[in-house]
Amino acid sequence: MPLSQLQEKIAAIKEKLGKAGSVTVLTGSGLSADSGIPTFRGAEGLWKNFRAEELATPEAFSKDPRLVWEWYDWRRAIIAAKEPNAGHYMIAELEKMFSRFHLITQNVDGLHEKAGSTNPIELHGNIWKVRCTRCLQVAFNFDVPVRIPPECRSCGGLLRPHIVWFGESLEPENLEKSYAALANSDLMFVIGTSGVVQPAASFAGMARSRGAFVVEINPEETAITEVMDISLQGKAGEILPLLVHS
Ligand code: NAD
Ligand code: ZN
Repeated sequence: MPLSQLQEKIAAIKEKLGKAGSVTVLTGSGLSADSGIPTFRGAEGLWKNFRAEELATPEAFSKDPRLVWEWYDWRRAIIAAKEPNAGHYMIAELEKMFSRFHLITQNVDGLHEKAGSTNPIELHGNIWKVRCTRCLQVAFNFDVPVRIPPECRSCGGLLRPHIVWFGESLEPENLEKSYAALANSDLMFVIGTSGVVQPAASFAGMARSRGAFVVEINPEETAITEVMDISLQGKAGEILPLLVHS
């Protein structure tokens, strides 16, 4: 994107930021790419030649919980060594600027909280939480490496990652909170998401149809670029500081 065009777009968004009463941010794995965490669809997202869609499913876990846990152990070890980037920090700063602010993330890495965001809606769960398949209790587990397969402290049942897998439903409470935020946003940012995983892929369109001005930040065109009012092509960690600072 030519510099003058970028500056024009940034100016237009800053004007919207100045007038907005409520802001919603939706993030995907591209935001954490700048922290060195691979996206699923990028070249580094593969583990032992498995695609995420082959491992992040309830069927894969019931067939071979060890294999699925080994993959999560690998991902947890990668994430444990990473820090939030400028993009995460800018989103935490934006939150302080607005009394009505919502952060909806598809990321499971916990980097938003680490950067200071409070109460992100974690649509797809959190890689540092486990859930008992028997008593359903949810707990934090930060062990790296994790004992495989991990067992519930209360009942001895098999623990699974507290993650929403392909083919599973999102927690209704998270969806309700998201829809309420989307229906009441003046301005929405869609950052680092390819727009192919539902229902988050529909969120931008929903917010826009309720009157929000919608901005995408992504180095590439996505499946939802055409829904946007403005699309900023670039890395989240480089673009967000231009919007919040400067
Ligand atoms: P995705 O992998 O489908 O898409 C990533 C998007 O990020 C792409 O459009 C890509 O162009 C963009 N991108 C890459 N680098 C970027 C950068 N520096 N700045 C901005 N954008 C950048 O990711 P998704 O849409 O989040 O959906 C995939 C699923 O994978 C989600 O359900 C998520 O839970 C899961 N996931 C999470 C993590 C994590 O927590 N960090 C990592 C991998 C996958
Ligand atoms: Zn249990």
